[in-house]
Amino acid sequence: MRLQKPPFIYCRGAVRPQEEAVLHVSTEAVVRGLNVFEGLKGYWQRDGRFGIVAMARHHARLKRSARLMRLPFDMDLPAFEEACHAIVAALAEPDRDMWVRATLYGTEGHWGVDTQSDLVLTAFHQPKAPPEPWPTGVSAWCRADDNALPARIKTSANYFVARMAKIEGRDRGYTEMILLNGAGRVAEFVGSCLVMARDGVLVTPPAWEGALESITVDIVEALARDMGIPFVRRPVERSELLVADEIAAVGTLVEVTPVLSVDGLPLPPPRLLTALRDRYRDAVTGADPHPAVDLSIQSVGRRVPAMAAE
Ligand code: PMP
Repeated sequence: MRLQKPPFIYCRGAVRPQEEAVLHVSTEAVVRGLNVFEGLKGYWQRDGRFGIVAMARHHARLKRSARLMRLPFDMDLPAFEEACHAIVAALAEPDRDMWVRATLYGTEGHWGVDTQSDLVLTAFHQPKAPPEPWPTGVSAWCRADDNALPARIKTSANYFVARMAKIEGRDRGYTEMILLNGAGRVAEFVGSCLVMARDGVLVTPPAWEGALESITVDIVEALARDMGIPFVRRPVERSELLVADEIAAVGTLVEVTPVLSVDGLPLPPPRLLTALRDRYRDAVTGADPHPAVDLSIQSVGRRVPAMAAE
């Protein structure tokens, strides 16, 4: 699998050639993996402009994660938005949508003393079509407890278990894996939340069960309510995964991706979650706007980025 290596990266306050985005091997970002991050999705809109979903909410969650990790981050929303627009303008291509990764690295300081940080933005091209439905499995690895590694901090350390689970899943023939929490109930997928349909009701485990405080789940809840589909947040037991009518992974990158099977047991064809997937798509692409989908819109006209003078 070839990784995308975007030629431009935003760091130290400006868009720069990617060779200039380097971290010293002695920084806490490298030595202890000190970072917090966000993944934002941007879509070409029906009118030819480009829109990034839920900019303010991603900025707010990045601030929350930074606060929990004691990483300084005082960039306000307008500056954050401008930086995201700058990296999109540098990298956008007309036939592909984009995933913007905003990472705050710990660049100076030692064990929490004199910590300094730098916001780094990269953006990766994404196919315009939503992901195909997945076969999934329940991982033997678990989401850590809140007093060990809080799931609400979006930090790389929370994805070590994702790496283990994905390797395990690949060996078992599953595209994506479900993580249980320490109590053996459902937490989430490794990189997205889990929404299940039972008897016409959509159910998702609340954040205190070990799920990230998901922006997409909040949007999907609002869309579902407008479509007359009840939506509840409650603990989900493992065996419910095997008797559910429908299951989907929900998150910024995967949107609403229905699940084909869990641990080899096929699920019936999704109905409610397919309708929600389509409604979400229409909202984020501007085909059918919805108040729950806040889009930060920009016109992208040029490919030559405004770079730092140095
Ligand atoms: N859980 C995890 C572990 C994730 O990485 C993500 C993606 N950010 C989500 C859930 C979904 O969160 P959101 O809807 O805010 O993208």
